[in-house]
Amino acid sequence: MIVVLKPHATDAHIESVLAVATALKLKAHLSKGVERTVIGILGVSADKETLMAQFAQLEHVEHVVPISRSYKLVSKEARPESTIVRLANGATFGGSEVTVCAGPCSVESREQVMETAAGVAASGARVLRGGAFKPRTSPYAFQGLKLEGLKLLREAADAHGLAVVTEVLDVRDVADVAQYADMLQIGARNMQNFTLLQEVGNIHKPVLLKRGISATIEEWLMAAEYIVVAGNHEVVLCERGIRSYDPMTRNVLDLSAIPLVKSLTHLPVVVDPSHGTGARLLVAPMALAGVAAGADGLLIEVHPNPAVALSDGPQSLTLPLFADLMQKLGRVAEAVGRTV
Ligand code: PEP
Ligand code: MN
Repeated sequence: MIVVLKPHATDAHIESVLAVATALKLKAHLSKGVERTVIGILGVSADKETLMAQFAQLEHVEHVVPISRSYKLVSKEARPESTIVRLANGATFGGSEVTVCAGPCSVESREQVMETAAGVAASGARVLRGGAFKPRTSPYAFQGLKLEGLKLLREAADAHGLAVVTEVLDVRDVADVAQYADMLQIGARNMQNFTLLQEVGNIHKPVLLKRGISATIEEWLMAAEYIVVAGNHEVVLCERGIRSYDPMTRNVLDLSAIPLVKSLTHLPVVVDPSHGTGARLLVAPMALAGVAAGADGLLIEVHPNPAVALSDGPQSLTLPLFADLMQKLGRVAEAVGRTV
């Protein structure tokens, strides 16, 4: 259940709600919004009505709402207003801006990441993406430059006012990745790595949570719940396609997930049409469609020379193709009342 406090509730009023929860051995989860403070009460098993009445009678409690969903804190019931996730350079997800993250699949060299950062920044991207720790199907494939890759991303991003988003594959690397990145990506293959989710829930940096390769929407939201309940509210969801039977596309980009998820959660949602399709030809149309469908941002793979990319060359845009997409994106964003 969610205890919604009146607009001018003080810290003392918040404390009185927390004290009741503690006395009843329930877990309380505080969320201070711009207008309202809400407290999620978790672990309620029996006699919900009595408990709800008990909280409702406290001073400065406006009302108490039950949460019918399996995910609680990320549900729209818990927080009707959209969460806005802000990165260090001022880029936001969940506001009126459509924020574009762009860069190579893998960080390969200083020259490659510098050239890409300069190009994507000039076209209007706000966030540099790039993998330093790579989840590869084959153990013989390029596994990423690791710490060296993190340093290169930071240097390239700082040179162009970009923020950095990069994947963390393992709980042992969370501290290093958090030191260099502004946002930590949890990849599709790790969406249900619950210890990793808890670990990124313990830090104070935004998290980009990709949808698992065959995850249902509910499983995806439950994964976000793991991060939020651990204490990190800054989660952005990323639709990146789900596995299907047709090898013509790498995945099937589930565009319907965008408005659906936005109706279920207050968290921002971005779209990754690169992994969602696996084909350069399809990236721009699906990026535009994602924004038309209400996405709060995009994650796009861009490489200065995709033919020699060490991973995901076939789905990477060249810098001119990315510039062309950004031109079109401004017009689509405007048509749906957003800015880029
Ligand atoms: C990536 O963004 O480079 C990546 C590996 O994505 P996913 O986890 O969606 O496959
Ligand atoms: Mn990739």
